[in-house]
Amino acid sequence: MPYLRDRVVILRSVPFREHDRMIVMFGWQHGLMEAVARGSGLARSKQAGHLTPMSEIDVMIAKGAMYDKLAVARITNHHRGIRKRLGALAFVGSFFDLFERMQKPGIVDETLYALLVEVLEAGESIPDEPSRERTGLLYAVAALKLLDRVGLAPALTHCASCREEMRYGEFFLIPHTATLTCADCYRVLRSANPNAEMIDQETLKLIRFLRKEPIRNVFLLTGRADQFVRVSSAILCALKAAPLQKEPHGLYTISALLSQK
Ligand SMILES: [Zn+2]
Repeated sequence: MPYLRDRVVILRSVPFREHDRMIVMFGWQHGLMEAVARGSGLARSKQAGHLTPMSEIDVMIAKGAMYDKLAVARITNHHRGIRKRLGALAFVGSFFDLFERMQKPGIVDETLYALLVEVLEAGESIPDEPSRERTGLLYAVAALKLLDRVGLAPALTHCASCREEMRYGEFFLIPHTATLTCADCYRVLRSANPNAEMIDQETLKLIRFLRKEPIRNVFLLTGRADQFVRVSSAILCALKAAPLQKEPHGLYTISALLSQK
């Protein structure tokens, strides 16, 4: 029976048959994978309890005719700290949901794996319970980095239409193409794209800045909640152009989780 080895991040674990679980994971060398973890076999071993979402593990997977089986799983990092804060859990959980919706089996990209780890580490190092706006911003910044890595992030320095540098005034993000245009060009494009998102200079500057910063620097950002909301809203508008299997839970999950407090 052929085997493969990889280091993976567990994205999801769902009940499978009576005693087993289907583990959805993203591997450093193999990308998106699914494998069955045998409940009874694993419960007797030290491996039980390692297979929780948001854990990093080293796995050996047996390729099967019907489905693959998780033969060996060794914990690398539980990232348990994420479960201490509701905001961290909402941020990482929503991002994982989005991440999985943008993957297809067979796409291998080490920079995507590194982004998952960056999100896990950022979630783990959240110093205090974040506000709903800051949690939303964390999610949006991670989403922007994901769009960047798959080549779908909008250009943020020049108008997509006239190529002029965007220095002054207001800009318009057109959702289904994820392109940013200057106000002059948008006047021409408005009738065909009435639902563009208006972005002011301050918001655009902040998005440019956050694009280059490590995700965890969102904790250090001083700013008003309404600024955070405008930045998040602009990034999520760009996300509408991404080919997703279906609409991600995203901020709806975050809002629902945090409103239960
Ligand atoms: Zn223009």
